[in-house]
Amino acid sequence: MKQYKGTGVSPGIAIGQVHVLKKTALIPEKRTGKRPEVEMERFEEACARVADELIMLSKKVEKEAGEKEAEILVSHSRIALDRSLKRETLKLLEAESANAEWALHQAAGKIAERLAAMKDPLFSARADDIRDVSGKIMRHLMGIADETSQVPTGSVVVSELLLPSDTITFTKGKVSGFVTAKGGFASHVAILARSLEIPAVVGISGIHELAADGEKLALDGETGEITLSPDGATIELYNKRLETYEKQKDMVAAYKKRRTETFDGKRLHVEANIGSLADIDAAIAYGCEGVGLFRTEFLFMENDRLPTEDEQYEIYSKAAKKLGKHPLIIRTLDIGGDKPVDYLNIEKEENPFMGLRAIRYSLANKPVFIQQVRAILRASVSGNVQMMLPMITSLEELIQAKQIINETAVQLESDGIPYANVPVGIMIEVPAAAVMADVFAEYCDFFSIGTNDLIQYTAAVDRGNSNVAHLYSNSEPAVLRLVHYVIKCAREKGIRVAMCGEAAGYLPLVPVLVAMGLDAFSVSAPLIPSIRAAIHKTDTKESERLLSLVQGFTSATDAEKTLSQGND
Ligand code: PEP
Ligand code: MG
Repeated sequence: MKQYKGTGVSPGIAIGQVHVLKKTALIPEKRTGKRPEVEMERFEEACARVADELIMLSKKVEKEAGEKEAEILVSHSRIALDRSLKRETLKLLEAESANAEWALHQAAGKIAERLAAMKDPLFSARADDIRDVSGKIMRHLMGIADETSQVPTGSVVVSELLLPSDTITFTKGKVSGFVTAKGGFASHVAILARSLEIPAVVGISGIHELAADGEKLALDGETGEITLSPDGATIELYNKRLETYEKQKDMVAAYKKRRTETFDGKRLHVEANIGSLADIDAAIAYGCEGVGLFRTEFLFMENDRLPTEDEQYEIYSKAAKKLGKHPLIIRTLDIGGDKPVDYLNIEKEENPFMGLRAIRYSLANKPVFIQQVRAILRASVSGNVQMMLPMITSLEELIQAKQIINETAVQLESDGIPYANVPVGIMIEVPAAAVMADVFAEYCDFFSIGTNDLIQYTAAVDRGNSNVAHLYSNSEPAVLRLVHYVIKCAREKGIRVAMCGEAAGYLPLVPVLVAMGLDAFSVSAPLIPSIRAAIHKTDTKESERLLSLVQGFTSATDAEKTLSQGND
């Protein structure tokens, strides 16, 4: 039995026999002495046939999967007829008097490489589309059939990289799941897998060489875990997850698009925590009512240099447009702690969680902060953008940060650059800020409680240290008291209060947080429907009774026990 972890891109459980799909790279030989006009005609004929086939396939897909999925194939048919691909190919045919296959291989390779080099994952994913379509044209030119037609029904397909056109032929009954060595959440393959509801995991390096044809494989398309040759107990575990998943799926369907309110009609919101632009589509698909936390540090971490103001602006503004009227709460850079950024050369610290982290870094490195603030203010004309400051501990920090934000707005004004003033809120994730919440509420537009750090700093438990994991609890009574106080202060000052730490996705706490008066829960996308369902089940009168019990909790163990019962 061997276990691996990749990125889950399409939720669901699959257990089946491996079919390793070897995508033989079609590398044509160069033959010269050809007449360019004859080769060009062969090339154009192959392109036209591929475009026709794709349009036909798109009609089938529109019926089986939907309009959005069909549009991927329509866009592929456009690639088959694309002028730049033709131009590049023709240039080579004329210059080298070579065969069409070789010229196509060179031309498509060049275009794909150019796209793959772009930092935005959406552009680099388009490189796969070019490879996909040119592969199809190549097959036509060479007269070779597609390997996907040989996949046995019910198998789990394992491959180095799947292309959108492969995925589209894997209708739900035909393939139970797939695993690839390459690929990302935003790739078209991942989008298709989600809409075709085929569980899928990507990014397990070398998996196409590690798995053998006919071997059993179990995968979890949500967590990204896979097991090769699972033993009996593991299969049972996956079967249990399958059962839970099936139940959850019904609920997802039922609660995805509903308005969030309690049983007795109190309006709340369930929002999403995201780490990239690519996460938004999944969040919308799960029915988010906005983004309560955009962790922008990932934009900085996945780069090997600071993202420029314009690059940040593009991302924030696209995200805001996707969400329309729903809020996009952009948290400014939260690096340090367990999120190092090598190129920033932050001095190595003895105790990084208490070091130059988050807003402390931003205030100590104003040009980096100002650049981000400019990008956020500019993006705010594209939607309902709000700015959130992480790890605020003292009032001076908040005042200083707000002053920089105001000065940046003035500068944009004098530069004649469009921007809008945005609500500015803070994370409450340091006990000092929680205790002083009444004061902070006077100085900002909203709070979002970051329990991940609030628990860590209140209970003095490193959130990532397994030796003390037993001391870390979402039901820690000291933290619950702080949370209650923070919500009370926000209510009294009439500002919005949300929770974006992982405790917001902890089901037993839902009725308690509702009773405390929380306005919004911000959680990772797959949790949205279940949290919304739990809010719908909550009756405010009942939950107030639970809250009075919470006030008497003296230990996390007791709290957990009582709360889990309350949630039955
Ligand atoms: C938190 O601390 O609860 C939080 C949401 O921030 P992060 O997990 O990014 O530190
Ligand atoms: Mg935090």
